Amino acid sequence: MRDSGDRPGGRRRLVLFDIDCTLIDAHGAGGRAIFRAIDEVYGVRGELDGYSFHGRTDPGIIVDLATRWGTPEALARERLAACLERYVACLRAEITDDEIEVLPGVRELVGELAGDRRVVLGVLTGNVAGGLALKLAPTGLLPLFKVLASGSDSALRPELPAVAVARAARLTGYDYTGKEVVVVGDTPADILCGADLAVRTIAVATGRHTLAELAAFAPDYLFADLGDWRAVVAAILA
Ligand SMILES: [Mg+2]
Repeated sequence: MRDSGDRPGGRRRLVLFDIDCTLIDAHGAGGRAIFRAIDEVYGVRGELDGYSFHGRTDPGIIVDLATRWGTPEALARERLAACLERYVACLRAEITDDEIEVLPGVRELVGELAGDRRVVLGVLTGNVAGGLALKLAPTGLLPLFKVLASGSDSALRPELPAVAVARAARLTGYDYTGKEVVVVGDTPADILCGADLAVRTIAVATGRHTLAELAAFAPDYLFADLGDWRAVVAAILA
């Protein structure tokens, strides 16, 4: 059934949250698990030398680091599925409940939005699906996210907003367009990923990037953190 979405006060929103350094801080568990998996599957290890995980996808990171550390690219891609599987197993071992920190304001913000009938909540993340579940399940928030677009869908973050929009349409019968789609994230990659869909972007400086760095990418809204969650709700519904 197709919903018109134009009832008074409609303001329908598909709100897509990045995970790492936006909803949670996993205190490096993901990085440690990726290093272990690359070592076990490709037999290589090395230094980051300025390489940043932030805003990238798990499959992208694995291919980048494995090749950087000496694995031929064709082999890195050939064994990618095996490495991702190993990564999720390593992550399970790395994560303990107290290593997943829910960032300030997140519980209140997500709880408020989950109770708003105009809003569908989703996750848009570079984590593969198994990692997404491992990182969010301990927080208790995972069941509130009805649309998941992950690194299992694409190694390229800019392809993920369209995946989320298509899934939301199948779920609700409504085609979310333009500023009805809201991407919330902590990196320039989050701000830029939905540019071709002209989505609403909300940047939050709870990751590696400062307010000034994020401001340079002209998000629609910019917050130091999500602590003032009522202001974030207002930005989402504006
Ligand atoms: Mg992030």
